[in-house]
Amino acid sequence: MKNVILTLNAGSSSVKFALFDADANLALEFKGQVDGIGSDARLKIKRADGTVVVERDLDEASTCSPSDALNTILSEVHALAPDAEVQAVGHRIVHGGIHFEGPVLLDDACVQTLSELTPFAPLHQPHNLAGVAAAQAAFPTVPQVGCFDTAFHRSHPWVNDTFALPRELYDKGVRRFGFHGLSYEYISMKLDEIAPHYQDGNVVVAHLGNGASMCAIRDGHSVGSTMGFSALDGLPMGTRCGQLDPGVVLYLMDQMKMSASEIENMLYRESGLKGLSGISNDMRELLTSSDSHAAQALDYFVVRIRREIGAMAAILGGLDAVVFTGGIGENAFQIRERICDDMDWIGMELEETRNRQNAEIISSDRSRVRLFVLPTNEELMIARHVVGMVG
Ligand code: ADP
Repeated sequence: MKNVILTLNAGSSSVKFALFDADANLALEFKGQVDGIGSDARLKIKRADGTVVVERDLDEASTCSPSDALNTILSEVHALAPDAEVQAVGHRIVHGGIHFEGPVLLDDACVQTLSELTPFAPLHQPHNLAGVAAAQAAFPTVPQVGCFDTAFHRSHPWVNDTFALPRELYDKGVRRFGFHGLSYEYISMKLDEIAPHYQDGNVVVAHLGNGASMCAIRDGHSVGSTMGFSALDGLPMGTRCGQLDPGVVLYLMDQMKMSASEIENMLYRESGLKGLSGISNDMRELLTSSDSHAAQALDYFVVRIRREIGAMAAILGGLDAVVFTGGIGENAFQIRERICDDMDWIGMELEETRNRQNAEIISSDRSRVRLFVLPTNEELMIARHVVGMVG
């Protein structure tokens, strides 16, 4: 028998999973996902070395709900690793509200509290909790651990946690929660492992994927984030707008007569790189496009990141290291090159060859600020939390 830890990330149209060997220092066994739930569902599973072991379309009946998708995953995993016995399940949950500052064992009361946070993250929280219910049904006697994207940011000082709105709204939970916390926590631990000197310093992490945000970290704690109350604020993303004057939303409602759900759809799904380029949310596509709107979308993306580096350095009172992570941060050397161009005034100097090779350290030897490219691993962070909670 092999003791394994299962991690789950259940979203609106996908269920992602990873399986770690609990007796082998959390070595990855398999990871994969069911994508396209509700439309063209597809299952893909890879081994730790990246070899694809399962890839096929799924019929509608096997992907009607997160529970169906999970059962499909579990039966495939059972066929691939019949001796694997799930000892605990870790769940990625987007919102932990103001109370959850770390992972928790998910009992009924806790799940109830988390479901009351649904109005804060209506597009994510219900799906995350549907994943919890599905895993509880599949493994009724196994501990389930909730890990939150907001928890790492609960160390924000008040000034970086609030909006300048009437005071009672802060008390009612209208705050800058910040997201991508599991990624930032993983990167912070990784940095401690490979370059402990920077763990005590002023570090900015840029998580640049389809979702994108930046985090100011001092002594391993988050002190500021570009994301705010929802996962819309801050940097422009694949399809999300990033920072926006709230006056625009009022104008869309009052003058253009758009409904709340039409505005929501525009801000979450039709904006960002996709909206600006009119072509795609996919960075690879934009980088190879000759369309001037694609170029402008990239200009805006880069400018906002450069601006936030300055803002984060001001929050921190200095800058010792910048870490790039996420699909774009880890791979798009052209974007990193443009972000770092002429940033020697703040101490950042890129080394071109290292950058083009996506090396771990991409700064020049004389750069005062050390520049890193570190792949994130949110699933491993969840698995570590599970071990921390249940042993
Ligand atoms: P998510 O937020 O969905 O986890 P990812 O972190 O996987 O997103 O990042 C997806 C983004 O990374 C896409 O825009 C994709 O084009 C970009 N990306 C992935 N690989 C590369 C690459 N080799 N070069 C440039 N961009 C890349």
